[in-house]
Amino acid sequence: MDMRIVVLGAPGAGKGTQARLLSTKYGAVHLSMGNLLRKEVSEQTEIGRAIRGTLNKGDMVDDAIVNMIIENQLQRYESVILDGYPRNLLQAQHLDNYLKEHPPELDVVFLMELPIESVIERLSGRRVCDRCSRTYHVQFYRLERCSCGGRLVQREDDNPETIRHRMEVYEAEIQPIKDFYQKLGLLYPINAEQSMEDTFADMCEVLDRIILPNHKRGVSAG
Ligand SMILES: [Zn+2]
Repeated sequence: MDMRIVVLGAPGAGKGTQARLLSTKYGAVHLSMGNLLRKEVSEQTEIGRAIRGTLNKGDMVDDAIVNMIIENQLQRYESVILDGYPRNLLQAQHLDNYLKEHPPELDVVFLMELPIESVIERLSGRRVCDRCSRTYHVQFYRLERCSCGGRLVQREDDNPETIRHRMEVYEAEIQPIKDFYQKLGLLYPINAEQSMEDTFADMCEVLDRIILPNHKRGVSAG
């Protein structure tokens, strides 16, 4: 069955991991905006050349560009899990308008919630592979190299002061998006402080017990 899911959450909440798990279980394509942007850069497309500087500085890429990238993907795939998009209210509104004209619309928006202390603990122990971007946590992985052979490095912005600042930015951005999806009846908060397995189980429960049984696709009045 086709489904369109958005996974929202603070940095470090585990959006990418959960999106991958959902993608495997439900057969939907995982669209990670971070990966899509990096792919544009590595393939040196026109977009890639335009955004390389912005990405390297860690700044946000223009709404117009990320909107276009997502639209291209949505034309290709019916069942998708969006991770890292929408990033602000304008993007959420844009996506909503686009899907109204190009259904199916969203089925569910998961909001992975995690207190700031946990975000700091997770992110300051995070190491990223400089080759394949896979992430590890020093608490669970003590080797210096990724399974692909790449070197594990700490991202410059994964330190407590910058994390606090990023969280402030995140909170300011997420509130209007939350309100927007809440009004549409699509928002499902998920406790992301649990283990990866329990967090995933909560999401599956929402999908299996609430979303899929009420799947209106094909019978909607439109
Ligand atoms: Zn790697």
